[in-house]
Amino acid sequence: MISTGDVIQLLPDHVANQIAAGEVVQRPASIVKELIENAVDAGATEIDLIVKDAGRTLVQVIDNGSGMSVTDLRLAFERHATSKIRTTEDIFQIQTKGFRGEALASIAAVAQIDAVTKTDSEEVGNRLIIEGGQVRDQLPAAHPRGTSLSVKNLFYNVPARRNFLKSNQVELRHIQEEFLRVALAHEKISFRFFHNDAEVYILKSGNLKQRIVQIFGRKIEAQLVPISEETEIVKISGFVGKPESAKKQRGEQYFFVNNRFIKSPYLHKAITEAFENLLPNQYVPSYFLYLEIDPSKIDINIHPTKTEIKFEDEYAIFAVLRSAVKHSLGQFNIMPSLDFDQ
Ligand code: ADP
Ligand code: MG
Repeated sequence: MISTGDVIQLLPDHVANQIAAGEVVQRPASIVKELIENAVDAGATEIDLIVKDAGRTLVQVIDNGSGMSVTDLRLAFERHATSKIRTTEDIFQIQTKGFRGEALASIAAVAQIDAVTKTDSEEVGNRLIIEGGQVRDQLPAAHPRGTSLSVKNLFYNVPARRNFLKSNQVELRHIQEEFLRVALAHEKISFRFFHNDAEVYILKSGNLKQRIVQIFGRKIEAQLVPISEETEIVKISGFVGKPESAKKQRGEQYFFVNNRFIKSPYLHKAITEAFENLLPNQYVPSYFLYLEIDPSKIDINIHPTKTEIKFEDEYAIFAVLRSAVKHSLGQFNIMPSLDFDQ
C-alpha cells in the first residue's frame, strides 16, 4: 500500500466499546453473569434476576447492595472505570468478582440500558438511560437502596451477532448455568430467578448443603460426601457425590477458587483420579469444591470472563485435592458402585 501521510486515528469510545463487547458479551448469559457479579460485589444480600425471552428482550438484575452515586452511575458505563482496583499491586490481591471495569461499557455498547440506583447517603435515587453506548437521559428517580439494571434488546444494533444466538432453550440453559455458578458460590445471599414471569429458582440464604439441595433436589442430600482439608497453600471444602450418583460424561461439576467458578480440566483430573476404581469408565463424579488460595498465587487475568486461572503451585494443589477426596471417600467407606448398567 502506498502511504499518503498519517492515517492512524484513535477510535471513538463507542466504537472501541463495541469491539471490546465481542469478548465480554457473547450471549444473554454473559450479561447475567456480569450483572449478578456486580450485585455480589456491591454487597447485596438479596438479588433478583428477571429474564424475558431467554434474555433477548430483557435481562434485569435488582440488588439491595451499596447503590451508586449519581457521578458513579455515569462513570460505571465508561471503559476501564472500576471502583475495585486502583494500582497494579491491587491486581494481585483481588477479592472481588470484577476489576477490569469493562463489563458495563461493553454491555451498554450493544444493548439498551435502563439503570436506577440509590445509595444510603442520598434522598432519592438516579436513573440513567443508555442506547448503543450513548447516554440518552439522566434524571432523579425514586428507588430503595441498591441498584436495578435492565439490559434490553441485546444486539439490537448488531444484527449479525443477534442472528448468532441459539434457540431460546439453549440460551436459557446458559443463563441458568451462569446463575447457578454464582448462587453456589454465595449461599448466604438470597436469589430469585424469574423467566417470562414464571419462577425458576427461589433460593433462601443458608449453608452450602442447603443451597445444593435447594437447587438440585432432596435426592442429592444423601449422596454428598464432605471434603475438608487445609494446608499452607490451599484450603479445600465442599462435597463430592458418592459413586452411585455419578453420571455418564457430565453431571454437576463445580469448582470454585476464592468463590469464583473456574473451569479446570487439570483439577478435574485430580478428582477423577481420586475416584479411580470406584467408577466404571466414562462415569464422572459430581462435585462442589471450594478452594481458597492466596490471591497473589493465582492469575485470573487470562481472559475477560475469568473462568480460566493459572496457579503458581499447580502440581501441589493437584496433589492435595486428590488426596483430600481420596481420604474422604475412604473415611466414609465408599465402595465401588455395583448399580451401573455397564
Ligand atoms: P468491574 O466490575 O470490573 O469494576 P463493571 O463495568 O462491571 O466493572 O462495573 C463498573 C463499576 O460500576 C463497578 O466497579 C462498580 O463500582 C459499579 N457498579 C456496577 N454494578 C453495580 C451495582 N449493582 N451496585 C453498585 N455498584 C455497581
Ligand atoms: Mg463487573
